[in-house]
Amino acid sequence: MNAVTVIKAPTVDAGSIPADLFIGGTWKPSSTGKRIKVFNPSTEELLATIADAAVEDGISAVDAAAAAARDWAKTPPRRRAEILLKAYYLMVEKADWLAELISLENGKALADAKGEVNYAAEFFRWYAEEAVRINGDISIAPSGANRIIVQYQPVGIAVLVTPWNFPAAMATRKIGPALAAGCTCILKPATETPLTAFAMVDILAKAGVPNGVVNVITTSTPGPVISAMLHDPRVRKLSFTGSTDVGRRLLREASDCVINCSMELGGNAPFIVFEDADIDAAIDGAMIAKMRNGGEACTAANRFYIHRSIYDAFAQKLSARMSAMTIGDGWLPGTACGPLVNEPSLKKVDGFVQDAVSRGAKVLTGGKALDRKGYFYPPTVLTHVAKDSELLHDEIFGPVAALVAFDTEEEVIALANDTEYGLVSYVFTQNLARGLRVSEQLDAGMVALNRGLVSDPAAPFGGTKQSGLGREGAHHGLLEFTEAKYIATSW
Ligand code: NAD
Repeated sequence: MNAVTVIKAPTVDAGSIPADLFIGGTWKPSSTGKRIKVFNPSTEELLATIADAAVEDGISAVDAAAAAARDWAKTPPRRRAEILLKAYYLMVEKADWLAELISLENGKALADAKGEVNYAAEFFRWYAEEAVRINGDISIAPSGANRIIVQYQPVGIAVLVTPWNFPAAMATRKIGPALAAGCTCILKPATETPLTAFAMVDILAKAGVPNGVVNVITTSTPGPVISAMLHDPRVRKLSFTGSTDVGRRLLREASDCVINCSMELGGNAPFIVFEDADIDAAIDGAMIAKMRNGGEACTAANRFYIHRSIYDAFAQKLSARMSAMTIGDGWLPGTACGPLVNEPSLKKVDGFVQDAVSRGAKVLTGGKALDRKGYFYPPTVLTHVAKDSELLHDEIFGPVAALVAFDTEEEVIALANDTEYGLVSYVFTQNLARGLRVSEQLDAGMVALNRGLVSDPAAPFGGTKQSGLGREGAHHGLLEFTEAKYIATSW
């Protein structure tokens, strides 16, 4: 394991970013005046304080979104597209600055943060292109008696709730399609990483988004604040990305007013390597699938199922790559693996490893939190992981690869599907027929076949089972912010 030794001051001054609530185009403190502290997970130092919204502030944000809704829905799609495209270019212009900001508040390695900024900006460009392609359709009723006209209209005011692990991309993946479809919205980012959200709305305002179309609130009491908004009859959409537990709770809340819900929830991705795979390609894929974002991704490979005939070779190669990763403060150039986001995450990841070890797992590399400031856990490879180990059943959300051997195709499909989650699966084989046959049988919204990455703004991202409802990205993501209006007519 290597450590970054470069010492440099961050170029981003986190204290200079507006950190109040953004409501109706104005930055304002919360009605109670309370603030929340935001820390740098690499150093545990205070980065900034942000406004702590109460229920009344959430409702003020709904007021602002409601006041802007009619005009925004009527704004010509071409104009909406131009604003989104401008936001894309502004993000690209500020990419290095934004990446450093993300690394500072989230801890992820700068290279990962740069990747995120590009990915995030692409949602604005993609939905700029989609804004002018909201096509309906017309057909003749089978009886011949009338015409069926279908038009896609904005679903209405949208509440967008996002997690800390991709603070820019999870926001743009929702704001992009919401704005393209003609909806106004209220973004509620995670309190671990609010500064990126504030920087994003600043960019949107500069791109020409009218006052009230995008509002941002941060709160230490998301339960009551989001609940109040979901019980306001003006709100018609909830788009949530986060854990399955909170997702379930919000679905219950949303049911009272029968709110349209899109849910991007947790994952427990299997990473399957067959005996006929190109092992080096599988290792490259594993490094991306496991270590992008230091393992803090819903798409992170959680369970590695490796064919018994190549198990030892794969384990040795993966361990060599993992142990060579450079650990350091996320924002320092040269860091490959930054800290986890906070102390509870660190304790959770270590708890998973110790549980697996107590059930017989062997540690090839890592396996113990680092003795230094910040929430650092080293890249870890575990072999001989017992089937009842907690980390095979829960999201690890950290840099830990748990390897299990399998013998047959049938067996590994059953193992992969034995989970309440169904977000993504990874399959490595050089036999295309086998790859497609297995992909079809995996219970997942997405399959990466001989690849370590699925995320793409042009592709429908989302899960089956308890990994979520609906899709983000692609044209599908736009339709999530629309309602189909059917007009029956005769002429
Ligand atoms: P989380 O569920 O704890 O929080 C997500 C968001 O919900 C945050 O903004 C949080 O403040 C808010 N929240 C928490 N409790 C709430 C409540 N009672 N009412 C309303 N809002 C509430 O998740 P997290 O720890 O921020 O993020 C990690 C989780 O997100 C993982 O489970 C990960 O798999 C998931 N995730 C999923 C995707 C996807 O696309 N499927 C993408 C990224 C992350």
